[in-house]
Amino acid sequence: MEVESILSQLDHLNTISSALDVPKDVRQEMIRQVADYANHFIEELPHVKGFYERQPASLEIGDHPSTLSHLLALYEKEVVGTGINAASGTHLGYIPGGGVFVSALADFIADITNPYAGVYYASPGAVTIENEVINWLKSIFSFPENAVGNLTSGGSISMLIAFNAARDKYAIKNEKVVKSVVYLSEQVHHSAHKALRILGLEDVVVRQIPLDNHHRMIPDILSQQIEMDQSAGLMPFMVVATAGTTDTGAIDPLNELADIAEKNNLWFHVDAAYGGFFILTSRKSLFDGIQRADSLVVDPHKGMFLPYGLGAVLIKDSSTVLHSNRYEAHYMQDADKDELIKSPSNLSPELTRHFRGLRMWLPLQIHGKQPFIACLEEKLLLVQYFRYLLVRNGFRVGPEPDLSVSYFWYPFEEDADEKNKSLMQQIHSDGDVFLSSSVIDGRYVIRIAILAFRTKKSTIDRAMHMILRCLRKIQE
Ligand SMILES: *Cc1c(COP(=O)(O)O)cnc(C)c1O
Repeated sequence: MEVESILSQLDHLNTISSALDVPKDVRQEMIRQVADYANHFIEELPHVKGFYERQPASLEIGDHPSTLSHLLALYEKEVVGTGINAASGTHLGYIPGGGVFVSALADFIADITNPYAGVYYASPGAVTIENEVINWLKSIFSFPENAVGNLTSGGSISMLIAFNAARDKYAIKNEKVVKSVVYLSEQVHHSAHKALRILGLEDVVVRQIPLDNHHRMIPDILSQQIEMDQSAGLMPFMVVATAGTTDTGAIDPLNELADIAEKNNLWFHVDAAYGGFFILTSRKSLFDGIQRADSLVVDPHKGMFLPYGLGAVLIKDSSTVLHSNRYEAHYMQDADKDELIKSPSNLSPELTRHFRGLRMWLPLQIHGKQPFIACLEEKLLLVQYFRYLLVRNGFRVGPEPDLSVSYFWYPFEEDADEKNKSLMQQIHSDGDVFLSSSVIDGRYVIRIAILAFRTKKSTIDRAMHMILRCLRKIQE
């Protein structure tokens, strides 16, 4: 091709492609519109419902360019106006969190500057921030300095990294798979089962250890089961404990389970995805033994109220994580080989990734940890207040919760499960406050999960009003 032709085509393409680099005045106007929308959204939160049962209209990508103001209006109607309002304090289902404001600013800065947070050499500053967040987490859970960690997109990927390390340490492959045993409880989060399947451990023997009447794993039974499995020629290799179960908020007796794991040379994993940050509160002693875990999962997008997309995993034996995840390729030969564990990509299946450390680092630097801790203490009291209101209004509640998740049901004289299910449906179509359901000990129950930072006493009063309003409808 003639150079003149190249130059003229470049000229032509540039007039089209430069649209992606938005000029300053347009940029300012766009930022203003987004800021206005964000402020409007936050100001309206106290007045909107927790759940909208409707489905979104078309959000198809059109053939013609659209305007930001049009798209923001569409977003408000079809995204914010459908499903659970997870940023609102009225989200009391599943495990909420909320999404603190400063994290949004951090994401904005991270996206504008776009540092490469996968490899130390590429952005020593960004990776140092990632690692300082990990260091902070290690200090909270009293993990040793030489433990490693990774910021992930959430608990499920954290679990995958942890189990992968356990598998590699015990070299569970080929014919060993069907003889290996994992111990967990029926209240374990389903992401544990999913991780086993993804890792090719679908065929391991899984033992569900029974729970006591506070929904905590019973150590004696675990001990006996391990012994039985050993005498049967099986190979016990991992105990999965939960510090804050999703359904009931229970914390397994970590120290006793750690003793058993240690005595039998098993990998001790603690899933603290939901409950972990309560170690910073007056419930600290319930977490005794968590520092003895070989691997630990905790979700800042739950207990630190960050926007979705931030989980963390801590692992003591770095060699186990490096085994599967480290990779050296020619195109990465400039990366410093001695900096292995400094680079997130060597501890995770991800290479190129969002610079997610900033969304935790910035709020912690700006607010300090005290507001986070106060918020967690507040949730512990709110669940007690909610339970008090429920009992006073004739409902039955589950056992005193370890943390901020509990459950209730109405003691209808007959068809209690069916009628509580109808009550749940009423609550969903009312939508003022969002609750979810579960089946616990064979009974249909309605869960309360209080963790959103915007959930306050007034939210609980509002929830109670809604529940009574819905109950009256069932009883009509
Ligand atoms: C939420 C949760 C998970 C899964 O985490 P995600 O961030 O949703 O992937 C795992 N374990 C427990 C106890 C949880 O509450």
